[in-house]
Amino acid sequence: MDDAMNDTPGTGKRRSRPQTDDRGRVDLKSMDRATLERFLVDDLGQTVNRARTVFQWIWQRGARNFDEMEGISKHLKRLLKERCTLSFLEPALVLRSVDGTVKYVWSLEDGHQIESVLIPEETRMTLCMSSQVGCAMACTFCLTGDLGLKRHLTVAEIANQALQVGRQLPEGERITNLVLMGMGEPLHNLPNLVPALDICLDDFAMKFSHRRVTVSTVGLVPKMGELAAALPVNLAVSINATTEEQRRQIMPITRRHSLEELVQACRDFPLPSGKRITFEYVMFRGFNDTLDDAARLFTLLEGIPTKVNLIPYNENPGRDLKSPLDADVKAFQHYFVSRGTACHVRTTRGIDISAACGQLGKGKEQAIARGWLEDARRIAGLSQ
Ligand code: SAH
Repeated sequence: MDDAMNDTPGTGKRRSRPQTDDRGRVDLKSMDRATLERFLVDDLGQTVNRARTVFQWIWQRGARNFDEMEGISKHLKRLLKERCTLSFLEPALVLRSVDGTVKYVWSLEDGHQIESVLIPEETRMTLCMSSQVGCAMACTFCLTGDLGLKRHLTVAEIANQALQVGRQLPEGERITNLVLMGMGEPLHNLPNLVPALDICLDDFAMKFSHRRVTVSTVGLVPKMGELAAALPVNLAVSINATTEEQRRQIMPITRRHSLEELVQACRDFPLPSGKRITFEYVMFRGFNDTLDDAARLFTLLEGIPTKVNLIPYNENPGRDLKSPLDADVKAFQHYFVSRGTACHVRTTRGIDISAACGQLGKGKEQAIARGWLEDARRIAGLSQ
């Protein structure tokens, strides 16, 4: 490629709104590549190539400060120090489950806490990431819902979860899959989610394959198309029920977007060939666990390229909802599999450290009481 072409800044769409601190310094972590290229070219008089080198130092080599950035002139380092910052998440707690699951509790600058969960399996290493502090969706069964929405996470706070967990893995290990299934409703925070995922997917940054990144939603119908237009990632929909009435009882969002509207949006979703929508279905004993439910769900989803993910409910205090019986889960699964639809049961991971689905936000107290508290800074590899 000739130099002139290579020097065109921000060829991609400019997406992220950079964040500045009280001294007017801008957090480079809040910028996707197009935005950072523009900033370095327009505001700091640099070339696009130089901007890319800085971007790679940040997101591929995990630079903690500007001095570390070899191959960057003294002049530029000085400019960066004057005008920019690099934000990091502060680990408050790292909890390891007996099953290998690791829960990271991060303290944000304003004192709020969020969580990420690393789930090692035989063939993959999945990081479950948060998109908001709390959640506005108020699903009755979910603990994060109890918190209400405190605020959206920033671009940097979302992308830093993947960077920082990835950086502290032992030599030879890496995160293979990202799922936006932690705290929050990712489609409620699209303006920050999209640039953050852009950074996760970017070849000059974390280089995740779009096949291995999944965004899960309660069904914010108008935002589903927006996500598809912005990024080629996988979609998961927490369907959880098979009639309007049943879904309204546990997921208030159904009052705004009916089950019918949601299923239609899934039908209309521009799926690339070979991709399927994952339908998550939390199973509650005596509520949505019968073969009649299975049959209704099967009919609802007919014609949509589908994978069903059954999640046996993890019981939370203060609710009269119960976990399903194993036999009912198996029968439900069999209904789908015997009709040629992929259907997996999500095994509960990290239950001893409250890292399982719908248990995030349970807080430190319980973890400490259980004796799982470890030296978070050391384990997170962030003490150097
Ligand atoms: N807000 C998004 C992202 C969170 S994903 C969404 O709802 O899709 C969290 C998943 O865990 C959702 O499928 C949710 O239905 C499920 N879940 C929540 N609480 C649960 C619980 N107590 N037991 C099992 N699954 C739960």
